[in-house]
Amino acid sequence: MKKTQSKPTIIPKMYCNLFGHDYQVSKKVTYHVKEYTCRHCKKELTTNSNGNLTELTPKFKEINDILSRIHASRTQRLKKKSFASSIY
Ligand SMILES: [Zn+2]
Repeated sequence: MKKTQSKPTIIPKMYCNLFGHDYQVSKKVTYHVKEYTCRHCKKELTTNSNGNLTELTPKFKEINDILSRIHASRTQRLKKKSFASSIY
């Protein structure tokens, strides 16, 4: 790649094409599933059921929403369980 003088106005998508996306965790759905957003172009990814990253489509948002609710109720139940077992 040729090194050019850094232009102040690189459009985010161009930046991502050159350097790759810079994903940051935007939401933790479960222990294994997270949502990521690119700092530059705001592209969103999520972990799919195979553990791979995939584009965060409305369908996946829906799935993640359900997953996070299941996850929340599960972790809450676990907390209750360990609380109960510490009594007996
Ligand atoms: Zn990007």
